[in-house]
Amino acid sequence: MNQDYSTPAAVRAHNLSFTINLIRERGTITRAELNQITHLSTTTISALVNVLIASGFVTEAGIGVSSGGRRPVVLEFDYNARFTLGVDMGATHITVIIMKLNGQVIARKNRNVDVIHQPYLSLDSILEMITSILDECHLTYDNLLGIALTVPAPLIDELTGEFLTYYMPAWSGILPANYLRQTINLPIYVENDANSASLAEKYWGIGRGYDNLAYIKLGTGVGAGLIINNEIYRGVNGNAGEIGHTTIEASGRLCRCGNHGCIESYVGIPGLLRDVREGLRNDPAWQNILESMKIDQIIDAANKGNEVCIQVITKAGKYMGIGIANLVNLFNPGLVVIGGELTAAGDLFLNSVLSSIRERSIPFGIHREKLVLGELGSDAVAIGAATLVMLNAFNEINLYQTLRKK
Ligand SMILES: [Zn+2]
Repeated sequence: MNQDYSTPAAVRAHNLSFTINLIRERGTITRAELNQITHLSTTTISALVNVLIASGFVTEAGIGVSSGGRRPVVLEFDYNARFTLGVDMGATHITVIIMKLNGQVIARKNRNVDVIHQPYLSLDSILEMITSILDECHLTYDNLLGIALTVPAPLIDELTGEFLTYYMPAWSGILPANYLRQTINLPIYVENDANSASLAEKYWGIGRGYDNLAYIKLGTGVGAGLIINNEIYRGVNGNAGEIGHTTIEASGRLCRCGNHGCIESYVGIPGLLRDVREGLRNDPAWQNILESMKIDQIIDAANKGNEVCIQVITKAGKYMGIGIANLVNLFNPGLVVIGGELTAAGDLFLNSVLSSIRERSIPFGIHREKLVLGELGSDAVAIGAATLVMLNAFNEINLYQTLRKK
C-alpha cells in the first residue's frame, strides 16, 4: 500500500496510528517514553494522546517510576475498550470467537456445517452464531471493531470476499463479505485460512518476534500462509502458499486440482484415508469401519502400533518434509509452524517431516530454520481473523473511523 505523507492530515494519521499501536503492544507507557521513541515534540504527543484518551482506548492510569523530578503519569491501553470477532469457515465447520485487544479469546462457538455444498446455510449459520455469541457475552455490534471471515480457498478479492470456487462450485458467484454486509453494519474483512493462522501464530503464538515465517495447515487440504517482512504474502491473485499443489510425484495420483502427484493428494486427509483403506482392506478387524473412519482413528491405531497406519503417517511426513524443504530453500523463513488436524499424530509425523527436511534442505539453511507445532491449535484460524480486524482498525487508513465510533 502506498502511503501519502504529503499532507499534514496524512502525517498526523500516521503518527496517531504509530502511537496507538505502540501503546497497544506495550500495555503501558509514559509521555516521556513516547517522546523518546517517536522523536515527536511534546506538544504533538500531548495532542495525540488527548485524542486517544477521548476515544476510550487509552486511560491515564496512575503514577510511574520517577527518574528524578515530577513522577510521570502512566498511559495504559484498555484491552476491553472494544472487541474483535473472527469467523473460521472451514470445509465442514464454522468457528466464531470474540477476542480482546490483547489476543485473549473470551468466547468461542463451533458448529459442524457442510460449508462446501451449502453456501447460504453456512452464511446464515454465521449470522446466527454471531448474534448468539454477542448475547452470551452481553455485547452488541457497537462493542466490536469489525468482523473477519476466513475461507478455505485462495482469496481473489479482499473486499467482496470472492474466492476461488474450483473446489467448491456451489459457491460460484457468491460474495460472502457482501452477503454479511446486508445484515451487519461494521467493517468486514476476508482472508484465506492458512494466511489467517499464520497471522495468529505471529501475533499471539509461537511465531512472536519473527518477521518471516511460514504456517503449514494440514487438514482436508494442505496450504501454507507466508509472512514476509511482517506482511501476509498473497501473490498476484491470492494463490501464493498453495504448497499442497506442488508436485511430489511426477506421474503420481490424480489430485482434486486436476494435476497428478500433488503433495495434497498424499498428505491431505482424503489421501491418507485412501492409503489406509488400501493397506487394510484385507484385515477383517477393519472391514466395518474402513469407509467411515476418521483421521483420529488412524492416528489412534498408529499410536497403538498398527503397522499400516504408522507407515501411512510416516510417508505423509516424508512427503510433507520434501515440500517444506523446497519452501525453506525458496523463502528462507525464520520459522516453519505446522498446524491442523494431522499434527495430532505428534512425533510420529513430525520426526518423519524433520528427517526428510534434513536430507533435502541446502546445508546453510538447516541451522537457521526451525520447525515447530503451532501453539494456538484449532483456534488459530479464527484468532487470526480477529487479529486482522484489530490490525485494520488501528492502521492509518481506518483509525479515525475507529476512534470516532463509540
Ligand atoms: Zn493438486
